[in-house]
Amino acid sequence: MRLKTVRDVAEWRLCAGCGACAYACRDKLVSLKDVFDDGIRPFVAEGDCRDCTDCLQVCPGIGLSRSLPQGGANGAFEKWGPILSVWEGYAIDEEVRFRGSSGGAATAIALYCMEELGFVGVLHTGAGDTALSNKTHYSASREELLARAGSRYSPASPCDSFGLIESAERPSLFIGKPCDAAALRKAAGIRPALKEKAGASVALFCAGTPSTKGTAELINSLGAEVADAREIRYRGRGWPGVFSARIKGAPLEVSYREAWSFLQKYRPYRCHLCPDGTGEFADISCGDAWHREDGGMGRSIVLARTMRGQEIVEGAIRAGYLKLERSNEGAIAAAQPNLLEKKSALWGRLLAFRVFTLPSPAFNGFFLRRLWKPLGTKEKVRAVLGTARRIVRRGYLKRKSFISA
Ligand SMILES: Cc1cc2nc3c(=O)[nH]c(=O)nc-3n(C[C@H](O)[C@H](O)[C@H](O)COP(=O)(O)OP(=O)(O)OC[C@H]3O[C@@H](n4cnc5c(N)ncnc54)[C@H](O)[C@@H]3O)c2cc1C
Ligand code: SF4
Ligand code: SF4
Repeated sequence: MRLKTVRDVAEWRLCAGCGACAYACRDKLVSLKDVFDDGIRPFVAEGDCRDCTDCLQVCPGIGLSRSLPQGGANGAFEKWGPILSVWEGYAIDEEVRFRGSSGGAATAIALYCMEELGFVGVLHTGAGDTALSNKTHYSASREELLARAGSRYSPASPCDSFGLIESAERPSLFIGKPCDAAALRKAAGIRPALKEKAGASVALFCAGTPSTKGTAELINSLGAEVADAREIRYRGRGWPGVFSARIKGAPLEVSYREAWSFLQKYRPYRCHLCPDGTGEFADISCGDAWHREDGGMGRSIVLARTMRGQEIVEGAIRAGYLKLERSNEGAIAAAQPNLLEKKSALWGRLLAFRVFTLPSPAFNGFFLRRLWKPLGTKEKVRAVLGTARRIVRRGYLKRKSFISA
């Protein structure tokens, strides 16, 4: 089945919600809306589409291609993509570390790029205009960066504003999820101005984005009304932090672990078909060092993936922004076993989609079959039959009809 526009991508549930298609459409026919029980999705105005396919060319939802390193792929590349070095540690600035999700590494790197490398600012995600929404922000000061530190486990489309990177006077940093970083790589391939001005990218490790309905139902489950909620935070301010909201001026809090175990049920299916939980297309990736405890203070795993990423990480250490120690590939698997399990099961999940002749994302250079092989029979059967059952039960056999903009 041929996917002709991003409307097809969204209606066949392959959209990852990055927002890059809205940036890519030169005629501004693509708008983004937060579909309450799904995620941020593109709506294509009928009629005037010129079939230029720019929206599809930048789309990470329909597929990803990874090129192999010189000398071939080793086991680490198969599991985690290109890695020049692995580090563990945290932001030296205590406020940055405290406000950050993990060790504040992403925000510390952003500060270093702005204060020492001459980057104009940072394109990333923060709270939106309503309690439940997120918004893309361009932060150009320490205060703005700190206000937007911390993960937001709800739909965010930071790629919708790549135009701000293009129009900035000097390079900007981009921070996003792995699919957002992949969209930047794809978009830079067709837009020279973006390629020139995107100084570097940082990706967060990601197990999936719960829909807005997830946050709404979490608040309801805590006995509060969504209409009364203000200033929702998902974590940060200590590690792993708390989910918090202000309800009629009073604080409502629940631990990060309880919040995530509730929210994860609301991840759209494209996230279960995601081969890249660790940001393989970014210059630098940051995640939680879940295998370490540091007295309630956050620690990050930091992966330098490109020469540019390596220079930035080493520069940030030398300049006193980051305190990092060298680690190794084993630490990623120890900290993120769930991300490796998901990637290993993916070949079987995609097989179920192919059996039903449903459109599925195309992943090249990911060694999914090789990661699948060592799984036990039980895990293999669960991956294929579990996916087949979900396809039928959740109604994926038909396209989901979105209303045109
Ligand atoms: C949807 C989601 C799923 C995640 N799943 C995992 C996981 O499986 N394993 C794991 O280790 N960590 C996961 N994280 C947490 C993430 O890895 C940490 O945020 C990362 O370690 C960075 O921490 P930090 O302290 O360095 O970042 P900080 O210094 O706190 O900076 C965080 C940056 O992330 C940006 N950001 C926040 N929310 C979003 C969003 N929804 N989309 C795009 N950008 C955003 C902010 O703008 C900010 O610049 C997830 C985060 C999100 C948003
Ligand atoms: S994944 Fe991104 S580019 Fe693709 S349809 Fe969704 S929002 Fe658009
Ligand atoms: S799981 Fe993958 S597709 Fe889903 S939000 Fe995270 S990076 Fe994007």
